[in-house]
Amino acid sequence: MADILFVATKKCGVCDGDVNVTKVRSRLSMVKQDSDFCTYYKEVNPNYYVIFVCPHCGYAAQDTYFEETPTALNSIKDFLAGRTVNVNFSGQRSWEQAVATFKLAIFFAEMSSTQPSRLAGLYLKLAWLLREEGCPEELIALGKALEYYEQSFLREKMPIGNMTELTVEYLCGELLRRTGKLPEALTYLGKVVANPQAKNEKRVFDMAREAWREAREAQKLASEA
Ligand SMILES: [Zn+2]
Repeated sequence: MADILFVATKKCGVCDGDVNVTKVRSRLSMVKQDSDFCTYYKEVNPNYYVIFVCPHCGYAAQDTYFEETPTALNSIKDFLAGRTVNVNFSGQRSWEQAVATFKLAIFFAEMSSTQPSRLAGLYLKLAWLLREEGCPEELIALGKALEYYEQSFLREKMPIGNMTELTVEYLCGELLRRTGKLPEALTYLGKVVANPQAKNEKRVFDMAREAWREAREAQKLASEA
């Protein structure tokens, strides 16, 4: 573990304090990927370390925007003022700690009315963590991720990070399928498969076709039962 993790110093976006964060080296060997992009690595699950938590004020956010001043800075400061901060998420994290950091980051992101795509990403990664331990709450987190991706689809400019419009559309369909909303999943996935743009994004096209087929099978079984 020691050669995979390293420490870096970041500035907290809320209190401006210096925070020693634990990060994962970028060269990991991928083992496999689920149809909703949950990726498994041989060495470590990098999502255990993707949330930075400030031990001075208690603020938590994803690594990529931890140093940004959150939009609800004053409400967050008011909320944190006078609270005793007793968080220490430095060093190697357990699964329980990783889940706790996501719940904190989601709490602050929701307080800030952060872009829906950021909240969607947090809920999706939380769902993947819950999947690791077979927690049924995974489906609740997937449902929240879906809700925020659908919002971001309407309100944000695409692409979102490295996700094209087609990828987000596919992911919504796949999350609908995973949460058992089969007719809606078929509508979304059918649109992806029929999109002329899909020819240029062969991987997403293939994944959408496979998910569509599975959703149709499941729908058939459900109507026969
Ligand atoms: Zn802080």
